[in-house]
Amino acid sequence: MKLDTHAMRYLSTEDWRVLTAVEMGSKNHEVVPTPLIAQISGLRGASGVNKSISAIAKVGLIAKVKNAKYDGYRLTYGGLDYLALHSFSKRKTVYSVGNQIGIGKESDIFVVANDTGKQHVLKIHRLGRISFRKVKENRDYLRNRNSGSWMYMSRLAALKEYAFMKILHENGFPVPTPLDQARHCIVMELIDAFPLRQLSTISEPSTLYSSLMELILRFASMGLIHGDFNEFNILVYEDSLKPIVIDFPQMISTDHPNAKDYFDRDVQCIKTFFERRFRYTSEDDGPHWSDVKRVGKLDIEVQASGFSKKQWKELEKYMKEVAPLGDDNEGGQEESGGTETDGDDDDEDNEDDQDDDAEEGKEGNKKVDIDLLDEEKGDN
Ligand code: ADP
Ligand code: MG
Repeated sequence: MKLDTHAMRYLSTEDWRVLTAVEMGSKNHEVVPTPLIAQISGLRGASGVNKSISAIAKVGLIAKVKNAKYDGYRLTYGGLDYLALHSFSKRKTVYSVGNQIGIGKESDIFVVANDTGKQHVLKIHRLGRISFRKVKENRDYLRNRNSGSWMYMSRLAALKEYAFMKILHENGFPVPTPLDQARHCIVMELIDAFPLRQLSTISEPSTLYSSLMELILRFASMGLIHGDFNEFNILVYEDSLKPIVIDFPQMISTDHPNAKDYFDRDVQCIKTFFERRFRYTSEDDGPHWSDVKRVGKLDIEVQASGFSKKQWKELEKYMKEVAPLGDDNEGGQEESGGTETDGDDDDEDNEDDQDDDAEEGKEGNKKVDIDLLDEEKGDN
């Protein structure tokens, strides 16, 4: 999905208030009735509210929905993007948005800059995307879901990823420095390295291989399993071959009932990749689950840092239903090929997806480079 920030600078304080009101109303209403928007916004005079509603609907931040009982509006992903960027802008973590560098199945990745020009990475979670493609297989689960819950799940993913990145960073794991989080987005350090997937040859595969296996063991010794430890989620510095691990929304505790399976899968992923890409097979057939020596409890500690057990379970339920263990759809980006079946977009929420060019890669590297508002405006 595109991140079209051009309208940001034209929104008035009232427009931001109305947009925030639609977001707040969405917590209890799938379609937020117009009078409620006016009430929450606290703006006097219907004409001002209506003017703002038209303005933000015109640029696609909210969408009109004709309900059986009443007409109203719902927030679009674009609207949520604006709200998150607005928060980052006010906190001075993001000043401008640059190139899109990644389109995952469930995220968009952009290079952004703060007001001193320092570049960072913005990751926008979009958990609805894969699900619409898999909607037929997941009918029962999705039947009672609406766009609001996709936004909620995307927020949970961002919250989880940020909490994990933070605790891992604090504990000396090689992960990007987490910088900020708002709604469904996180801002983190830009790692100047390529995914392992892009390395065609390396002089000593055994060294990198060993450090990756050590990392898996180190995660587990601290109570965590990455759960998607593959060649897309490991960035490798070209000169030192030092790995940096990314992508944490699916991390699980070593106390999870299927922990051993996830652990073995992470190990196997690396083994398979090294065999195929570098023709390297280790003499050691481990590490095994029985090698894990538990010395820390980051899985417990993380719950004190803003990501509760309840939220963890909620997100896990979503992830399990949409891409259960052993599903070969899991873990890859679109480059892994063949897993995104086109033409079966049984799209129950297509207003959000109408401008979804980026998914086809058309907008892949388009320069956006548009300054955000840096003035103080109405929301939080
Ligand atoms: P997804 O959940 O969609 O797989 P990832 O977090 O794995 O998203 O990011 C997708 C891609 O974006 C990565 O494979 C990598 O190429 C790039 N990327 C993500 N985060 C960073 C970062 N901090 N620095 C540099 N590149 C990154
Ligand atoms: Mg990834």
